[in-house]
Amino acid sequence: MSDFSIGVDLGGTNLRIAAVDQDGRLIEKVTLGTKVALGRSRVVDDMCDAVLHMSEKYCNSSNLVGIGIGVPGIIDMETGMVRESPNLPGWSDYPVRAEIESRLGTRVLLENDANAAAFGEKWLGAGKHVDDMAMLTLGTGVGGGLVLGGRVWHGMNGMAGEFGHMTVEPEGARCGCGNRGCVEAYASATAVMRMAREAIAEGHAPALAKASSSDPEFSAKAVYNLAIQGDEEARRIFRRVGRALGIALSALVNALNLPMYVVGGGVSSAWEAFAPSSFEELRQRCMVYAATAPPSHHATGEQGASAHVEAKTTKKTIITRSLLGTDAGLYGAAHLPMVNHRS
Ligand SMILES: [Zn+2]
Repeated sequence: MSDFSIGVDLGGTNLRIAAVDQDGRLIEKVTLGTKVALGRSRVVDDMCDAVLHMSEKYCNSSNLVGIGIGVPGIIDMETGMVRESPNLPGWSDYPVRAEIESRLGTRVLLENDANAAAFGEKWLGAGKHVDDMAMLTLGTGVGGGLVLGGRVWHGMNGMAGEFGHMTVEPEGARCGCGNRGCVEAYASATAVMRMAREAIAEGHAPALAKASSSDPEFSAKAVYNLAIQGDEEARRIFRRVGRALGIALSALVNALNLPMYVVGGGVSSAWEAFAPSSFEELRQRCMVYAATAPPSHHATGEQGASAHVEAKTTKKTIITRSLLGTDAGLYGAAHLPMVNHRS
């Protein structure tokens, strides 16, 4: 067996851990619940136990290169501390990298979860054939990551790529970051639920009202199911998602002129419901997109998974779905210790 590393995706809900070899082959994957409410030492205990168990299992036959951890929050790369993480209360200013390194005796690399997802898509997913790409992850919140020259672009402190907090509606809905009208306030699962509740409260969304009162697990997925069944209010909500995403992508495409922009995260499975509105915004607002859009976008407003093949041969702006889905961050985290040497 070749050398391997361990990737950790530390989410607000799930703690996922995978051993991956240097060719990107999955050796083993486990999913645990993140017991956030029991405090950070419990979460770190669970993580270290699972990582140790996994590394001991394979260390006889090959070499553990290191551990990469994707964390939902703003990370100070220099100190290895989490600065701001709404999904991990009590973790701010906690020296998470130093703590885990001392417990495991192995090199640990921290990365923002969306940066890790972008890195995973670059390594094994939609961005495999490009050197430069941006990613937006539409989940509970909206994350962003930028890969330039095959490496995550960190900016000065490691905080670059917070595309989810670009303003798309100056006086819009309140975002978790304190600003108003961020992409996250319109294109996250949380935003889909807020818009559904608003529509129900206004009394003109009978199908949504019925679903929310009868389904104890009423979620963004349920809103999507109504949208694909043709419910006009549910469809309107996803058009709003697509519009916010399209406005943000327009700014990114104009600013960066990258060959590829990947949309991932749980909400991206509603691609058919929101993507046409995103492409409409891009065509209307984005000069660079108008000059570089592949012809298929104009015809269908959608982009299939084979987009990267096209990107190899022509210089067009490709906007496409994530290929690795919710595993992107896990693979990206595992890839970190294979390519990064701490400065
Ligand atoms: Zn925000």
